[in-house]
Amino acid sequence: MAATGTRLDLDGRPIKPMTICMIGAGGFIGSHLCEKVLFETPHKILALDVYNDKIKHLLEPETQTWADRIQFHRLNIKHDSRLEGLIKMADLTINLAAICTPADYNTRPLDTIYSNFIDALPVVKYCSENNKRLIHFSTCEVYGKTIGSYLPKDSPLRQDPSYYILKEDTSPCIFGSIEKQRWSYACAKQLIERLIYAEGAENGLEFTIVRPFNWIGPRMDFIPGIDGPSEGVPRVLACFSNNLLRRQPLKLVDGGQSQRTFVYIKDAIEAVLLMIENPARANGHIFNVGNPNNEVTVQQLAEMMTEVYSKVSGEPPLETATIDVSSKEFYGEGYDDSDKRIPDMTIINTQLGWNPKTSLWDLLESTLTYQHRTYAEAIKQAISKPVAS
Ligand code: NAD
Ligand code: UDP
Repeated sequence: MAATGTRLDLDGRPIKPMTICMIGAGGFIGSHLCEKVLFETPHKILALDVYNDKIKHLLEPETQTWADRIQFHRLNIKHDSRLEGLIKMADLTINLAAICTPADYNTRPLDTIYSNFIDALPVVKYCSENNKRLIHFSTCEVYGKTIGSYLPKDSPLRQDPSYYILKEDTSPCIFGSIEKQRWSYACAKQLIERLIYAEGAENGLEFTIVRPFNWIGPRMDFIPGIDGPSEGVPRVLACFSNNLLRRQPLKLVDGGQSQRTFVYIKDAIEAVLLMIENPARANGHIFNVGNPNNEVTVQQLAEMMTEVYSKVSGEPPLETATIDVSSKEFYGEGYDDSDKRIPDMTIINTQLGWNPKTSLWDLLESTLTYQHRTYAEAIKQAISKPVAS
């Protein structure tokens, strides 16, 4: 499993072992990236996060062959004087830390803006001042709504890809009005992207910006009432998984007509490793990372997840598999939605030769198998417990 022999980059040069300061290493993406780096490369990780539940299996037992290559530091980057020292100890910093669940954007807009902009500022500053490379995680949401969404519903131009394909260097960022607080996240991410870009232009910061397009897979978010708050609202994969596990209808926000492209986390992590190990090809670039072939409406996602879950669990689907719910009822005041998200893949393909591989059906099958194995028993027990009076 561990890397042996000389590994070469895309241009045939030997890849030198490096130390990576990974901020937000204990989250969904961080946990998969830690696994990839430990299992397939000789690099070392300084893993920073407030939580480590999702990487516990990598931190213990200490007899594992990779144990001396990962060091966990429990810290909050908002207020911890160790941050600069850890960035200085590393060759590369990867910043994943963020509040990034839509249910928070309109209900906790201040926390969202602080987390995605203010808290990221020292990370950028320390990288720039200490001449350290930075890979910063932004979001596809910086594109906001498509140009096509503003055309009349029956306009033939809506079928023209130039009105909806999202391209790093040409598409505009189109957000709703200020009272639509949904866009607090996208706007904060956009400003930190602009700041990083400016640090590159004015002070020579070596940076790469990643825009994930709905990466999904095992360990994403939490199941309410099992390993997260009962009233919590995670992202759609965990919301629908929770409904399926509890045999409740899946809730379609505003009819579930928004469209998304989903990419399997394991495909996406391959792209991140290419960025890590090919700085000459990745520095100075903003990369869309998604799977344009996996587009569905949220309603179609619900239908497919229902079918796949029935297959992996052996339980028949509910007669009424989905119900409609208004966004106001589900998310509260100030919610708004991205209508359609198809990534243009030209830049990542040209620079890193990366392409996603896994179909939506296959990625749902492996992810829902994991959800069923991990949570079905706990849910059964939670449901059977008598409610305290
Ligand atoms: P996640 O919530 O699972 O991971 C984020 C991690 O950052 C968490 O473990 C959290 O504890 C940590 N963190 C947050 N604030 C912190 C702080 N102040 N100090 C220390 N640690 C802190 O989310 P994820 O899906 O892994 O996303 C990682 C990054 O990718 C985020 O920046 C997110 O905006 C971006 N992103 C992800 C997706 C996706 O499809 N998963 C899509 C768009 C953007
Ligand atoms: N959504 C839904 N039901 C749910 C959870 C989410 O219909 O139980 C919708 C949400 O309104 C959005 C899409 O699913 O249109 C994707 O939501 P997610 O939380 O994954 O994040 P987003 O892609 O909007 O960043």
